[in-house]
Amino acid sequence: MNLPVLSVVIPVFNEEEGLPALFARLYPAMDKLGVTYEIIFVNDGSRDRSAALLRQQFERRPDVTRVVLFAGNYGQHLAIMAGFERCRGERIITLDADLQNPPEEIPKLLAKMDEGHDYVGGVRTKRADSWFRRNVSRVGNYVRERTTGIRMTDHGCMLRAYSRPIVNAINACTEINTFIPALAYTFAQNPAEVSVEHAQRATGVTKYSLYKLFRLNFDLVTGFSLAPLQVFSLIGFLLALGAMGMVGFQVIHRLVRGEAAEGVFASVMDAVLLFVSGLVLFGIGLLGEYIGRIYQEVLRRPRFLISSVLEKPDAEDQQDAGFQVAPETRAETLARIK
Ligand code: UDP
Ligand code: MG
Repeated sequence: MNLPVLSVVIPVFNEEEGLPALFARLYPAMDKLGVTYEIIFVNDGSRDRSAALLRQQFERRPDVTRVVLFAGNYGQHLAIMAGFERCRGERIITLDADLQNPPEEIPKLLAKMDEGHDYVGGVRTKRADSWFRRNVSRVGNYVRERTTGIRMTDHGCMLRAYSRPIVNAINACTEINTFIPALAYTFAQNPAEVSVEHAQRATGVTKYSLYKLFRLNFDLVTGFSLAPLQVFSLIGFLLALGAMGMVGFQVIHRLVRGEAAEGVFASVMDAVLLFVSGLVLFGIGLLGEYIGRIYQEVLRRPRFLISSVLEKPDAEDQQDAGFQVAPETRAETLARIK
C-alpha cells in the first residue's frame, strides 16, 4: 500500500454553494505539487446538498478523495479530528471549505516545513472579515495569550500544516471540547508561522453564530488553562481584604465617634454586595464549566458518529468492499445523499 505524502483535511458544513469552486481550485493546486496526496472531506452533518456534492467529487477523483460522513453536526474541530484519525500522509494540511484560505498557499506552508519546522500556522495578512469578527478575534487572541501562554499570531486561521508526530499526538487526545491549532502548539517542538492570503467567503454565510464564537473562544481558554479559576481565588482574596478594611473602618468609626458610619458608606456597601453576588454567580458558572467538562470526560461517550466513509479499498483489506458501513449500509448511504 502506498501512503500519500500529503493529506489535506477539510471540514464541511452546509457549503453546497462553495464546494464546486473549491474543487475547481484545490485539485489543480494539489496536482501541481507533484507529490502523492489525499484529500479528506469530513461532512459535519450538512443539511444542504454538500454530502451529495462530495460524493460526486469522490466518484470523479476516487484516487485522491476520501469522504467521511458524520451522522450529525459535531463542530469544526471534531470534524478535523475525524479527518486526522484517518489521514495517512507524512504531512497534514487543514483548510476551510469556503475558500477563505486559498489552496494556492499550501506550497508556502510546505516550504516552511522543509526548513525543519514540525508545525506551521498561517497568519492572515489582510483579513477579509467583518469589523466585528476581527475584533472578537483580537480579544480572543489577547485573552488566550495571557491565560494559556500559547503564542499564536492568528489562532483563527485554519490554513495550517502539521507533521505526522503532531497529528499522532493529537489523535491520542480524547477530549471533546478542543481547539486544534492550540492543541498542536502544545506538542510542537519547533513551530513557525507564515503569512497567507485571506479572501472573503466566496459564497454562503459564516457557520459561526455569536454564541458559537463565544463558545469557541471559551473552549480555547478553559481548555488550555486553569487561569480563569485561579483569577477567581485572587479576586475573592482581594474582595475579602477590602471587606475586612471596611469592617475595620466601621469599628474605628464607632469607637472614635460613638456611632455607626452612615450615608454614603452604607450605599457603597450595597454596591459592593451586589458586585460580590454577581461575581459569586459568575464564579459558580465557571466552576460549572470545568465540572461539566469533567462530567463529559467521565461519560466517555463517542465524540462523533460516522454514518459512512467513501474511500477506495485499501490494498490490505480488499474483502471489505472499501466502505466502512456502520451503522448504514453503503447502498443506504448512497441512496440518501443522491
Ligand atoms: N464548519 C464545520 N462545522 C461547523 C461549523 C463550521 O465543519 O459546525 C466548517 C465550515 O464548513 C468551514 C470551516 O468549518 O469549512 C470554517 O467555518 P466558517 O467559514 O463558517 O467559519 P469562519 O470563517 O466564519 O470563522
Ligand atoms: Mg470561513
